[in-house]
Amino acid sequence: MEAHPREDKQPFDIEEVLTRVRESIRGFADAAMFELAARGHASLFEQLVACILSIRTRDEVSLPVSLRLLAQARTPEAMRRLGPERIGALIRPVTFPEPKAKTIHAIAVRTVQELGGELPCDAEVLQSFKGVGPKCAHLALGIACGQARISVDIHVHRVTNRWGYVQARTPEQTLAALEAKLPRAHWVELNRLLVPFGKHVCTGTRPQCTTCPVLSMCQQVGVRNPR
Ligand code: SF4
Repeated sequence: MEAHPREDKQPFDIEEVLTRVRESIRGFADAAMFELAARGHASLFEQLVACILSIRTRDEVSLPVSLRLLAQARTPEAMRRLGPERIGALIRPVTFPEPKAKTIHAIAVRTVQELGGELPCDAEVLQSFKGVGPKCAHLALGIACGQARISVDIHVHRVTNRWGYVQARTPEQTLAALEAKLPRAHWVELNRLLVPFGKHVCTGTRPQCTTCPVLSMCQQVGVRNPR
C-alpha cells in the first residue's frame, strides 16, 4: 500500500479493477503484438521482430510496418536473406529504422548460424541480443510461448503506479514489484489490458478520472490535472 492512502477510496481489489478495465477497453484496438498474433503472426521470431519495431513508435505506425515486413520475411532464414538495407527500406516509417534493421538482421543471422534456425523460448537467449530488453522479451515469450511473463511498457508503468498498486520509479522497478504481488494468471494479460487503457483512459496527460471505472479504488498518485 501507499504510505498515506487516500481515505476517500475503497480498498484496492486487483481482480475487480482488472474486470472493470477489461470491460472499459472493449471497442478499442488491441495492442499491436496481440493484434499481430490474432492475424497469424504468432511465432516467437515474428513477435520479437514486431516488438523491436514498436519501440518508441505508435501502434498505428508499427502495426502496418510489421505486417509489411513479415509479408516479405517471417522466418529467421528469410529475414537473413532479405539483408539489413532491404529491411531498413521496408520499415522506414518507424523510429530509428537503420539501427532497428541491423538489430533484426543480426538476430536472424545468429538464429540461423547458432540456434538451428529457430529462436528458443528462453528469456536469457532473447535478452542476449543487442537491442532486446525485458519488455520485448517478456511480451514475445508470453504471447508466442505461453510463458507467464509481465511486460512493462510506459503504459503499464504509469497506470499501476497511479493506482498505487506499486510504488516504483522506473519500469524495471515496476516489473520487480508486479512480479512480487500480481497473481500469475494476469501476467500476460496485464500488458494487453493496460496498453489500450493507458492510451484512451488513463492517458499520460489529463487522464479521464471523472469517468474512469476504477476511480473509487485508484489512489491517483501524481495525478494533478485530471479530466
Ligand atoms: S482514476 Fe484516473 S489515474 Fe486512476 S486509473 Fe482512472 S484515469 Fe488513471
